[in-house]
Amino acid sequence: MTELLDAVDALTKPVILHHTIADSRFTCIVTDTPLLTRLQDEIRFSLSREGSKSLPNQRVPLNSGALMLFMRISSQVTDWANGAGSGVVKGDPGRTLRGWYVAWVQQVRGDGEVAARVRILHGWAAAIRRELDPPRMKDLPDPCPACGAVEWWRDGERYPRPLVVESPRNPEKNLIDESTATCRACDKRWGARELAYELEQKAET
Ligand SMILES: [Zn+2]
Repeated sequence: MTELLDAVDALTKPVILHHTIADSRFTCIVTDTPLLTRLQDEIRFSLSREGSKSLPNQRVPLNSGALMLFMRISSQVTDWANGAGSGVVKGDPGRTLRGWYVAWVQQVRGDGEVAARVRILHGWAAAIRRELDPPRMKDLPDPCPACGAVEWWRDGERYPRPLVVESPRNPEKNLIDESTATCRACDKRWGARELAYELEQKAET
C-alpha cells in the first residue's frame, strides 16, 4: 500500500528537493508546488492570458492540452471518490484524491487492483510533467537521411527542416541517450546518436 500512497503523494504533496551545499554539512530544502496544483495553475494562467485585453497577435492560446488532462484526471478522481463514498471537494481533485485514498484502503484490496491504481496515478504524474515541461525541440538543417526530404507539410502548409530532435528537460542519466529524432516528412524515428551517425555517413559519401 505504501506504493499507492507514494503515487497519491506524488500528485498532491509539495515536491521536496534536497540540495546538499558545498561542504555537505548543510542541506537546503527546496519545495515545489504539488503537481496537480501546478497543472491547475497552468490552466488558470492560460485562461487569464486568453481573456486579457492584449492585441490579438499577442494573445497566447489556451493550453488546451493541460485543460484536457486536468478534466480527464478530475473526472476519474470524482468517479473513484463516488465509488468509495469519500466525497468530492469541488474544484480540488487533489483533496478529493487524498480523501479517496483514505476511504479506499479501509477495505482489503487485491495486489492487482492496487497495482492498477498505482499505474494510473504514475501515468497522470508523467503526463502532467510532460505538459508542464515539454521536451526541448530543435530542428536540423540537414535533409532526412532516410527519405531525402528537405521540407514537410502540415495542414496544407509547407515547412523547411523536417528533422527534429527532442530532448527531455531533466534527463535522468544522459541527455544524448535520452534524446530522440523524427523526420516529419516520412515519420522515421531515431535515437539522437543514431541519427548523428547516419548524417555523418551521408556527409562522407
Ligand atoms: Zn524522412
